[in-house]
Amino acid sequence: MATPYDGTYLLFSSTPPPSHIQTNILFTVEHNVTPSKPSTTRPRRPSMSSFFSQLSSITPSSPSDPNSNPHAVPDPPSISDAERLLHSQFVYFFNGSTDEAHRERMEQLMSEIEPDIDNPPRKIEGVPQSYLDSLERVPRKELEARRAKHAQVKGKGKGAREEHKDLCPICNEEFLADEYPLVVRLPCHDSHVFDLECVGPWLRMKGTCPLDRKELMKKKELVKVQDEDEEDYDEMFA
Ligand SMILES: [Zn+2]
Ligand SMILES: [Zn+2]
Repeated sequence: MATPYDGTYLLFSSTPPPSHIQTNILFTVEHNVTPSKPSTTRPRRPSMSSFFSQLSSITPSSPSDPNSNPHAVPDPPSISDAERLLHSQFVYFFNGSTDEAHRERMEQLMSEIEPDIDNPPRKIEGVPQSYLDSLERVPRKELEARRAKHAQVKGKGKGAREEHKDLCPICNEEFLADEYPLVVRLPCHDSHVFDLECVGPWLRMKGTCPLDRKELMKKKELVKVQDEDEEDYDEMFA
């Protein structure tokens, strides 16, 4: 019974306060009606509901063959709006990031959208929703294995390199930070995996992989070519 300290202080610090200020702190805690929240009140992703409702107004309801649909010629101002909303998604990720490589990636994507805002194309090049639905899902088990592999890379020590996490290339957050991760692999490369929610809007508009700009509708049926890195990766799941 050395101290009346009840552990409440642990909410704020990993070390107990000096005994002479404990009374004050306990008082503060008891009367603190708004407990400190985690600093991450910013949502992981912006809502893209406006984008998708805009998209649904400019794309044919039957995606089976948009090129032959006589109603598929969209209104350029509507496309411009959809491009602008897509652009705002990447602005959001850009603004929330301190990772230089990630910010550059977002800038690159934004720069590819910007010309289409002012001069919208007559036709959207993106993939239909059915294509997104058919993408390979990366199961949680594999995500856990990927994360373990990245942790190994850190353990081997590559000089001053920061911890290498398994991040979504778009939102730059760990896949497994989502309670129910919904992660897809694009057919262009085994390592090109994304949160579906993050990559979906880009794919619907542009139809290319955000990492290598492969045109996905053309690559879907191609046999994957493995390089050394991928062989190493596959061993984990053999
Ligand atoms: Zn993401
Ligand atoms: Zn790719």
